[in-house]
Amino acid sequence: MIRRHSGRRTDTMAILSEVKKDYGKIKNFVNGEWIDSTSSKVVDIENPSTAGSIGKVPMSTVEETKAAIDAAHDAWWSWRETPPITRARLMFRLKELLEQHFENIARIMVQEQGKTIDEARGETRRTIENVEVAAGIPSLMMGYNLEDGAAEGIDEDAVISPLGVFAAICPFNFPAMIPFWFWPYAVASGNTYIVKPSKQVPLTQNYIFKLVEEAGFPPGVVNLVNGSHEVADTLMEHPHVKGISFVGSTPVAKYVYKKSAENGKRVQAQGGAKNSLVVMPDAVIDRSVRNMLASFYGCAGQRCLAGSNLVLVGDVAEPFLKKFVEASKGIKMGYGLDESVNMGPVVSGDAKKKVVGYIDKGVEEGAKLLLDGRNAKVPGYEKGYFVGPTILDGVTPDMVVAKEEIFGPVVTVLRMKNLDEAIDFIHSSRFGNAASIYTQSGKWAREFRYRTQCGNIGINVGIVAAMAYFPFAGYKDSFFGDLHGQGQDAIKFFTDRKVVITRWF
Ligand code: NAD
Repeated sequence: MIRRHSGRRTDTMAILSEVKKDYGKIKNFVNGEWIDSTSSKVVDIENPSTAGSIGKVPMSTVEETKAAIDAAHDAWWSWRETPPITRARLMFRLKELLEQHFENIARIMVQEQGKTIDEARGETRRTIENVEVAAGIPSLMMGYNLEDGAAEGIDEDAVISPLGVFAAICPFNFPAMIPFWFWPYAVASGNTYIVKPSKQVPLTQNYIFKLVEEAGFPPGVVNLVNGSHEVADTLMEHPHVKGISFVGSTPVAKYVYKKSAENGKRVQAQGGAKNSLVVMPDAVIDRSVRNMLASFYGCAGQRCLAGSNLVLVGDVAEPFLKKFVEASKGIKMGYGLDESVNMGPVVSGDAKKKVVGYIDKGVEEGAKLLLDGRNAKVPGYEKGYFVGPTILDGVTPDMVVAKEEIFGPVVTVLRMKNLDEAIDFIHSSRFGNAASIYTQSGKWAREFRYRTQCGNIGINVGIVAAMAYFPFAGYKDSFFGDLHGQGQDAIKFFTDRKVVITRWF
């Protein structure tokens, strides 16, 4: 049974009882049924704040994945024949259920991912927004026509049609939202779907799929298969799957793009990032600092849109840095269900090791530690994978820490002479996900947005998260494909255009 939304709680006993909760071994949702995987490989789901197990997730087999693909394939034609307005009504029903269970979804996310409850609430809101936009499908997938378009008495129509089975392979950092960049649009436009969550954070989708079931989507229309490489590879290889949406690290994004394309599929593969936040000499310091804290430390730096390089231009450097370091010291770390906490742990022991390794590397390369989060400890959660806010000053463009994705709460500070130098530095990166400028000058802002080769640009905004009705993806090694996630781009990715020319004798 799913508990209903019980309002905001800060009481410690409630938090402790949730911390100790064990969700048991989770199942797959295939063809409208909850199915226990027979796989001998089962992985612990860890709470990153305690390093304790809170459940188990099966690494489903190739055969189990094929069964889900078959179910989605069998369900496709009658779902395709279901009128768009009927499909939209199911989206409205799902939206209502997600609203009712809003708080529970956010709380589960905190427990398996480690983010704070407010970050989890923000993510749940973004999840629902994608369902709201997809519910507009009758208008979103209308075709177009032209009377006498081919010749006198011969009309021409372009019809927008769904294609069949699609699938998403998802990362650990946004357990609720990322599958929703894709599947509501695919399913609303008449396709059927398979979601593969990250094995690190399967509980949130497990909960959400109980709502998918309750909403009443016909069996086989939306399926959930837990697992790892075997599941992903089967989805990329199977002839019934028409397209793959991937979000994760760049090496895997490249692999998924190549393999899926080789198998004749449509593919959109979003990869890693290394985002720069540029502070111009005329920036409003206090407000910029406040805005940037969320960018660098939100979700413990584990956002593809997180700030990573702090680029200080001209004589703003010293006064800005002084305030930024002071403000960073005020970040309260802890267990995300505590409403007063600003930052949770990173997702796993391996993630912590990697982030600490990058901080060590920065020091070895000659950067100066203004704030060192390597030995962070949170009372009561000593085993948790916490890394405190970390600031490396004196970083230069050639250093590894200026170039590679760290994916933790680590700020690398570079000083530059002018905007040209800052933009050249951004362009030297192999990534192109996001970049922001802090300035009061329209001229500088215009130059930045015009010249910067990134998919998402912020002007005095540090987390450039496109709303659900805008497309979302990066450039360069941050994205492989052409049509982005969300909004109209998603509808185009999941549909094709068919031209009909008609003459009546
Ligand atoms: P990851 O690449 O390790 O895993 C992503 C998914 O791919 C998982 O479901 C995993 O099971 C699967 N996978 C991993 N290796 C595979 C392989 N060899 N074959 C088949 N499947 C495989 O990514 P992660 O650590 O879960 O997520 C963090 C990364 O995601 C960061 O690099 C971050 O920047 C990126 N990310 C990007 C965006 C974006 O929009 N560009 C958004 C969120 C996260």
